[in-house]
Amino acid sequence: MKTEIEPGIVVIGAGVVGLSAAIAAQARGLPVTVLDREGPAAGASAGNAGAFAFTDILPLASPGILKKAPKWLLDPLGPLSVPPSYALRIAPWMFRFWRACSASRVAHSTAAQTALMDLSRAELEPFLGETGTVAMLRKDGNLQVYESQGELDASLPGWEARARHGIEFRHMDAAEMAEIQPGLAARFTHGTFTPGWYSIADPKLYTLALADHFRARGGMIEHAEVSGLTPVEGGMEIATIDGRTRRVAHVVLAAGAFSHRIARTLGESIPLETERGYNTTLPPDAFDLRMQVTFGGHGFVVTRLSTGIRVGGAVELGGLELPPNFRRSQAMLEKARQFLPGLKPEGGVQWMGFRPSLPDSLPAIGRARATERVVYAFGHGHLGLTQSAGTARLIAELLTDRKTAIDISAFSPQRF
Ligand SMILES: Cc1cc2nc3c(=O)[nH]c(=O)nc-3n(C[C@H](O)[C@H](O)[C@H](O)COP(=O)(O)OP(=O)(O)OC[C@H]3O[C@@H](n4cnc5c(N)ncnc54)[C@H](O)[C@@H]3O)c2cc1C
Repeated sequence: MKTEIEPGIVVIGAGVVGLSAAIAAQARGLPVTVLDREGPAAGASAGNAGAFAFTDILPLASPGILKKAPKWLLDPLGPLSVPPSYALRIAPWMFRFWRACSASRVAHSTAAQTALMDLSRAELEPFLGETGTVAMLRKDGNLQVYESQGELDASLPGWEARARHGIEFRHMDAAEMAEIQPGLAARFTHGTFTPGWYSIADPKLYTLALADHFRARGGMIEHAEVSGLTPVEGGMEIATIDGRTRRVAHVVLAAGAFSHRIARTLGESIPLETERGYNTTLPPDAFDLRMQVTFGGHGFVVTRLSTGIRVGGAVELGGLELPPNFRRSQAMLEKARQFLPGLKPEGGVQWMGFRPSLPDSLPAIGRARATERVVYAFGHGHLGLTQSAGTARLIAELLTDRKTAIDISAFSPQRF
C-alpha cells in the first residue's frame, strides 16, 4: 500500500450503509475507495427483510418492549433471547437500553428517528433513480396482524404516536384483511395496514447493484480487513490485518456490527452490540404473499422478495463470536406454517445476520472524537436499509463541511 496521503475518502464497509455513503460522496465529486474484508453485501445488508420501514419511528427501546420482554425471554427459541454464555457481556448494554426506555428519552429518540426517516424517505427515490435501481422498489405496504381485539388495543398508543407524526394507517378486521392478503390463519382477527412502508425486491441484489453503480462511476472496491486507524499529519493511517498501511485524507467507518472494534483503535469506546437475527428464504412460489406481513406478537415478518419468500426476524443478544443457532430460523418457519396454512415450507435457505445496534435504537452518525477526519456511519440496528439513503446524504454533507439536512446531535457517537 502507498504511504503518501491519498487525497480522497476511504469508506470501510461495503454494506448498504457504506456503499450508499460512498455513492453520495462520489456524486459530490470526491474520490472514493471502499474497503471490505469480504466484498460487497457480505454482512447484514444481504439477508435482511428488505423493508423501507419509514413508519417505524418508535424506538425499540421503549416501555412496550419492557412489557413483552419477560414473556419472550421465557421461550429459548422465542422473539428475544440471550444465550447464557453471553448474558454477563451484554448486561451493560441492556442496562443502557433499559435507561433509554424512559418516557422523556423515548420522546427524544422518536423525534430524532422521525427526522431521519423523513429525510431517508425523501432521499430514497432520487437515490434509486441516480443508481439505476428504481425498478427494485415495491410500494406494497405492510400488514401488522393481531390475535385479538385486546392485542390491537394494546398497540393503539403506538399508532396514536405515529398519527401525531403524520403517518397513515388503517385498522381492519379479518374480512378486510382477507381482501388484501388472503390465506392468513383465522387466529388473526385484526390488523393494521400501513401503505407508506416500502420494500426492495431483494436486499442483496440491491446492495450489489449499488456496488456496480459505484464502480461504473470510477469508484474502487478493494478487499482489505481493517485492523486500526491512526491520525497522522494531514490524514489518517489505515492498518490492515495483513500488516500493510495506507494513508488517506478522510475515512468513513461503516463496518456494521464490527465498527466499534475499529473505533476502539482511535481510543473511543462505543457501546455497539449486535442483535442477531435469523431467517429462512423459501422459493418464490411458497406462498401468494401480497405485502410484507408482521407477526408483531411473535417478533417476525414474512416478506415477498423477487428471489423468494423470506420468513424471519427475532433478536438474539449473542455477540459476534457464538455460532448461529439455526433452530431459531426453524422455529419461525414452524410458526409461519401455522399462521399461513398454505405456506410450502420446503426448499428454504437459512441465514443469520448481525444487526449493528446501539442501546437507544438510534445510529451513530457524526465525527470521531479523536479526529474530524473520521466520520462514523453505523449502528442502524433494525433500520439500516431504511435509513441508508438519508444517512448517505448526511455523511456526504459532513465530508464536504456542509450544514447537515437535519440536526444530527441525537446521533452523536459521543452521546453515551
Ligand atoms: C434478520 C434481519 C432483518 C432485517 N430487516 C431489515 C429491514 O427489513 N429493513 C431495514 O432497514 N433493516 C433491516 N435489518 C437491518 C439491516 O440489515 C442493517 O441495519 C444494515 O444491513 C446494516 O448495514 P451496514 O452497511 O451498516 O452493515 P453490513 O451490511 O453488516 O456491512 C458491514 C460491512 O463491513 C465489513 N467489515 C466488517 N468489519 C470489517 C473490517 N474490519 N474491515 C473491512 N471490512 C469490514 C463487512 O464485511 C460488511 O460487508 C435487518 C437485519 C436482520 C439481521
